[in-house]
Amino acid sequence: MKTQDYIDRENKYLAHNYHPLPLVLKKGEGIWLRDINDNKYLDFLSAYSAVSAGHLNPRIKKAMIDQLNLLDVPSRAFYTDKLGAFAEKLCTLTGMDAMLPMNTGTEAVETAIKAARRWGYEVKNIAQDKAEIIVSKGNFHGRSTTIVGFSSDPEYKRDFGPFDDGFKTIPFGDADALEKAITPETCAFLTEPVQGEGGIIIPPEGWLKQAQEICKKHNILFILDEIQSGMGRTGKNFAFQHEIDKPDGLILGKALGGGIYPVSAFLSRKDVMDLFQPGSHGSTFGGNPIAAAIGLEAILVLEEDNLARKSAELGQYLKDRLKEIHSPLITDIRGIGLWIGMDIDPEKATARDICERLQHKGLLCKETHETVVRFAPPLTITKENIDWALEQIRFVLDEMGHTL
Ligand SMILES: *Cc1c(COP(=O)(O)O)cnc(C)c1O
Repeated sequence: MKTQDYIDRENKYLAHNYHPLPLVLKKGEGIWLRDINDNKYLDFLSAYSAVSAGHLNPRIKKAMIDQLNLLDVPSRAFYTDKLGAFAEKLCTLTGMDAMLPMNTGTEAVETAIKAARRWGYEVKNIAQDKAEIIVSKGNFHGRSTTIVGFSSDPEYKRDFGPFDDGFKTIPFGDADALEKAITPETCAFLTEPVQGEGGIIIPPEGWLKQAQEICKKHNILFILDEIQSGMGRTGKNFAFQHEIDKPDGLILGKALGGGIYPVSAFLSRKDVMDLFQPGSHGSTFGGNPIAAAIGLEAILVLEEDNLARKSAELGQYLKDRLKEIHSPLITDIRGIGLWIGMDIDPEKATARDICERLQHKGLLCKETHETVVRFAPPLTITKENIDWALEQIRFVLDEMGHTL
């Protein structure tokens, strides 16, 4: 079968809810991917940060295989020898008191919403069904109907309603707007510390700290979705560590699964977590021993391979070099750690055009919205690999610049 045959088959038998680049992958190792024609590509997307430790990271792969030789999915009807070790490590790493394991990021966000609302009713005595959660404009928290209901992207929600009440949207990174939006019925402020899908949007310095102080002053929970920003992506283990000690609630996913298995978690203070009682919430696969073994190893790799420090150093290097490129196509470059957005002038090209051309040069990136090319390589990348990627980016921008 040829590339086009694989593409045609996927197009025939799958829902068209994605628009993949036209290549067919069959192998991955570290920062490299290979297609069915044995072309080699540098992965500059890392599955939206899920593969921050590199493809088939040998340690994480071994942890999975070792666990597969012991026990698979017994359900949470029983204790296992793995889950406590993972939970203890994750709580120690984040500074949070307790965790609730789920699988996908969406489920962990749903868990946070349940926790916040229950806290609102049982601790703040908000009237039944009146609890309100404040969220940021341009947010991305997943794809469930509750979550897309408070998205500001019409394409995420068109014809999927009716949606839940109980969410109020304020501009991202605006502390005054947060304070003004709080009412006696507000139970939480839920936000990403840096917006990933929104286009790598970095809030003003000091905002996170201010937001936390406002939440504390008005007695509402400060909950951070670090599904994409966590696990070293921004140059710290978690993005909140740039400004604060810890939030009241923390949502993790993506890289927590080491790129090979869905592992997510909601973490919080003990008094909040204790609002969940047996029967109140759950997940058949959540916290199974395979997930726990992988999650634990992903944390050990993050720590022992100094992924956050590499992200900070190499991210700064990549951003500085990108800023030296003077192309009429680029309107802005911004980033934090190895997480960089390059804005493309929509009059001159689409971000998709650039991604397709970079693909032909062996560099895999994905646009977010029409105008932003996102660079987010595995944190295991080296400076030499980044220099090579920069050559390809320069080539494509030059080539497109000349034909304007
Ligand atoms: C990816 C992502 C989610 C959703 O995670 P899934 O595993 O796709 O359900 C939620 N929040 C943020 C910030 C994300 O980047």
